[in-house]
Amino acid sequence: MIEKSRGLILIALALLVLSAAPCGACFSIVVGKDASTDGCVLVGHNEDDYPPQVVNHYKVPRQTHGPGATVVLRNGGVLEQVEQTWAYLWSEMPGMLYSDTCVNEWGVTITSDGCPSREDRPEITDGGIGWMLRRLIAQRARTAREGVLLAGQLVERFGYIASGRTYTIADPNEGWLFCVVQGKHWLARRVADDEVAMVANTYTIRRVDLSDEDNVLASTDIVTYAVERGWYDPQKDGPFDFALVYADPASASHPNNAGRQWAGLRYVASQEIAPGFDLPFSVVPKRKLSVTDIMEILRHDEGNQPESSPASGFGCALCSGATQTSFVAQLRREPPRDIGLVYWVCLAEPRTSVYLPFHFGITDFPAGFRTQPEQPASDVYDRKVGATFVVDPREAFWVFSNFRDKADRQGPALVAAARTQAQRIESQAVAMQKPLEDTARRLYETDPIGAGELLTNFSYGLYLLALEGMDTALKQPTSDEQIIARAKVIHEAAITLDSHVDIADESYATADLDPGVDNPQLRCDLVKMAKGGVDGVFLAVYVRQAPEWNAETYADAQRMADSKFEAIERLTQSMYPDRCALVLCPDDVERIVATGKKAVMIGIENGFPIGADLDLLNQYYDRGARYVTLCHTEHNQICDSSSEPNPVHNGLSPFGKRVVARMNELGMMCDASHISEKAFFDLLAVTRAPILVSHSGCSVVHPHDRNLTDEQLRALRDSGGVIQIVALDAYLKPETPERKEAVRRLRDESGIPSYAERQKWSAERRAVMRPRLKEYYRRYEELAETVPIATVQDYVDHIDHAVHVAGIDHVGIGTDFDGGGAVSGFANHAEALNVTVELVRRGYCDEDIRKIWGGNLLRLWRRVEAVAESL
Ligand SMILES: [Zn+2]
Repeated sequence: MIEKSRGLILIALALLVLSAAPCGACFSIVVGKDASTDGCVLVGHNEDDYPPQVVNHYKVPRQTHGPGATVVLRNGGVLEQVEQTWAYLWSEMPGMLYSDTCVNEWGVTITSDGCPSREDRPEITDGGIGWMLRRLIAQRARTAREGVLLAGQLVERFGYIASGRTYTIADPNEGWLFCVVQGKHWLARRVADDEVAMVANTYTIRRVDLSDEDNVLASTDIVTYAVERGWYDPQKDGPFDFALVYADPASASHPNNAGRQWAGLRYVASQEIAPGFDLPFSVVPKRKLSVTDIMEILRHDEGNQPESSPASGFGCALCSGATQTSFVAQLRREPPRDIGLVYWVCLAEPRTSVYLPFHFGITDFPAGFRTQPEQPASDVYDRKVGATFVVDPREAFWVFSNFRDKADRQGPALVAAARTQAQRIESQAVAMQKPLEDTARRLYETDPIGAGELLTNFSYGLYLLALEGMDTALKQPTSDEQIIARAKVIHEAAITLDSHVDIADESYATADLDPGVDNPQLRCDLVKMAKGGVDGVFLAVYVRQAPEWNAETYADAQRMADSKFEAIERLTQSMYPDRCALVLCPDDVERIVATGKKAVMIGIENGFPIGADLDLLNQYYDRGARYVTLCHTEHNQICDSSSEPNPVHNGLSPFGKRVVARMNELGMMCDASHISEKAFFDLLAVTRAPILVSHSGCSVVHPHDRNLTDEQLRALRDSGGVIQIVALDAYLKPETPERKEAVRRLRDESGIPSYAERQKWSAERRAVMRPRLKEYYRRYEELAETVPIATVQDYVDHIDHAVHVAGIDHVGIGTDFDGGGAVSGFANHAEALNVTVELVRRGYCDEDIRKIWGGNLLRLWRRVEAVAESL
């Protein structure tokens, strides 16, 4: 017995040492089912333990046990065995007592986060319980609540041997945080269905209603014991505050713990949260969260703040250098559970690694996910991670950890390249999830083993892609010279297309506004296109609309459209037929570009001129128009605009649906830039061909009515469409106060009202104001250089996000040059290479860049044509 208690003292000492540095170790997230995009409970976790470590993965089968069987706990305690224990997925960190994670066949998920308590006189029976707690829950609980109650019983019977901890115990219906205090005290709180809770190494449960048993469970003497110990005085201290009473004050007041909880919560919270120690247990997220959102939070490091200005003195990196493994458990209720439960596992640090999905129904993890049964010695660990990088599927943990070592040594360029590869694989996995699961579900009815094999192969294929991705990332150029040289080669070989450039007024393609010279009034002209290696452009037949919709205003709009078609005809037919050509089908793009000419295509921006006459669509098609942006900044007869608050059609109008049907028949792309979110989803519901978003950004990166939400991006991906990222700075980034002031001053000086006001001008007024407006525009453009809002890096941030959410096959480039587009570094077509340079810098490969610069747009256009032929 003396030996045993000495062992315990050693363990307690080791824990004390750990708790003396109570920061940077583990981070947990629980998302309630009504706070996630697909109605599932999500659990995310970074497991931070300083090396040397390894992580193994197993699928442990169900087991039956005879009568009288027992379970012997690590320190000698004996417990009755149950008749049957459940199957579970197990992440094991050998040699570590508190680092494993389990997801059982009911979806009950258990992980933990060390939260030291102030207890120094713990009551322990038969050696107490620690390591076995999570295993017993995985083997015995069918729900999270059962898991919490079981954990409570075990703790009260044996006593918890470590200082303190918060266990996340979740299932497909609900998530709980179970706070255990060394000895026999505990308190658990349910995370509300529409909320998100986060834990960073200190208890987060504060004031709770102990009588609310649906949401709060606790050991019966949780309050009286604290009073007895003198930690809590109900008279003096007011309502019982669990964390305040039981947490180790050093952990509770450690800025890195509070800083991380704050950083995590503010990522998702709908309201600003003040940094400090008084943080909420959980928050309602500003939008519903997906698996990829949780990955992004878990990847968060200092250089990847959601916004700048971290609270001073607070350490906020959620992904520390100590993370050995990370996961997101996607716990869905739809049966069968073999398909509904997905465990997304990342080996090594998520900053440099990839999350790979493992459905519960896999036959097993890849063999390479079991490294060795023992904790490695330091020299073995150092040798393994320090060796030359080699792809070896038999040693997953070592390969990912070795790559992390290379990323740390080589710096940000390799980390960025790794991230690009990870996003590429993860978005592919997310995009394939539904079709894969549909097939697996069908197969499951007749051949569950075959379904399991399908799921296993899916994960294995992604694992191999992840290995290849690291290899690719390592081969990326890193010096500026190498990056630029590489970008030039890719840029030259790619077909580079811009899906949206405006042309001014009737003067376009005349001596007054000549696109054949390096024209200072134009951001897109034939000289700049040649200089920047841009092969083709959709010129916009943009049509302003009148407030009234009637035969007369429609006729006006048709005249305006005609004049723009004529301008483009002048450009391609009379002025520069030797330097450019009007292109009418995707196959001709490559043919024309091969001759050295620029490909000119036509899109109509605003369906207003169609009036009430569908046959006009045929006429416009015959004149070369290949897409129609259904509306502009005002509602029209086709649909509601994103720029006006009160809808008139509540989406797409009945006439709009006929417009879409006719465009599908003609093989014209429906362009959803400018249309309201409801109209966007209406359009997806009725169109038979995939759609274009010719010039928009991502509202998660910068909220603006012209940008697409992640939900829209995912729907676009699922329907095969493409978003062409707009280079208009106001859509990319918030305007600084200095910039606002500069624009206000310029307007005052030039006597020019706001854009909205200008839209109301009559034709006469417009004519009178034209010279003044021209001067205003000239000076406004100067502001893009002197007080820029956005840069080419900000621009590529939107590309990055769209690729992350919608996938590499659904993103392209649509600048809106000469219609307001221009960012610093990509202010005209002559600077197009800068975009490619930035993409190479971020680790995009040749093929990705070809897709972004035109490959995706051409694929979409071909698909739209094919659909038309099939109708
Ligand atoms: Zn526009």
